[in-house]
Amino acid sequence: ENLDKGLEKTKTSFMSKMSKAVAGKTKVDEEVLDDLENVLVSSDVGVATTIKIINRIEERVARDKYLGTEELNKILREEIAGLLSESETGEAANIQLPDVKPYVIMVVGVNGVGKTTTIGKLAHQFRSAGNKVVLGAADTFRAAAIDQLQIWADRTDVPIVRQKMGSDPASVAFDTVQSAVKQNADVVLIDTAGRLHNKVNLMNELTKVKRVMQKVIPNAPHEVLLVLDGSTGQNAFEQAKQFTAATEVTSLAVTKLDGTAKGGVVIGISDQFKIPVKYIGVGEGVEDLQVFNKYEFVDSFFK
Ligand code: GDP
Repeated sequence: ENLDKGLEKTKTSFMSKMSKAVAGKTKVDEEVLDDLENVLVSSDVGVATTIKIINRIEERVARDKYLGTEELNKILREEIAGLLSESETGEAANIQLPDVKPYVIMVVGVNGVGKTTTIGKLAHQFRSAGNKVVLGAADTFRAAAIDQLQIWADRTDVPIVRQKMGSDPASVAFDTVQSAVKQNADVVLIDTAGRLHNKVNLMNELTKVKRVMQKVIPNAPHEVLLVLDGSTGQNAFEQAKQFTAATEVTSLAVTKLDGTAKGGVVIGISDQFKIPVKYIGVGEGVEDLQVFNKYEFVDSFFK
């Protein structure tokens, strides 16, 4: 229900473009396919993924000889879901934690994408599920980032490890995992700085944060969660490219889907990067971070 509400703008815009593409047509022909291609590209699915989808539909048209436009929604829904299941390597997503304690999640992404909010929502959900959570404020470059995380720590009633602004992010990360081990915590969420202006700096910094954590927990972080702002459309692709080049990203969260018609970006990103989308943000409240389910996601477009 939250999901449908959260994706409403994307759905409305997508469905209205779709109905224009097939208006007055009974049969899927070249022209309808061209229009469909434009619909997908303008819905931020991305060119490469759009071409894959169109090819799949063309194959079906060629095989079945005839495809009625009234069936197009159903076929499209099947093909997109099929594409996503090929690209999604992760297990069926859920908020449960693997059997590793403490499970360390390093959260990365540029400023403003909703990193802190996502950490706060996750802290709330993990805690509600009965886990002991510790937050680490390793984005030490902005005082506001530390303060924001503190607000979430207070709101969700979980401990936070912080140092003063300007201190070494790796040192904060070290303190955080050490404290988590001492407290016998279940999960650690580490915020990091998202300055993208210098790729080498970003890479060095994330590498150092990881290396220092590993002095306490040899295979930490167990998860590197990249947060992307879905409302930026193609820019989110660009950020995913840069971060995956700088560090090994293992999961994705796409935020702010509620305020945008660019929700198709989730389809393109999961196809292009072969990294499971684990969470989507569909609002500012603590409950508005949802575990991503590709079938529900695609269904909510065509409902
Ligand atoms: P950070 O700089 O990446 O840590 O970004 P913040 O977590 O501070 O978020 C920036 C703004 O985006 C805040 O006003 C958040 O409330 C808002 N925000 C984050 N996630 C979502 C979302 O899923 N939907 C909406 N509508 N707003 C969001």
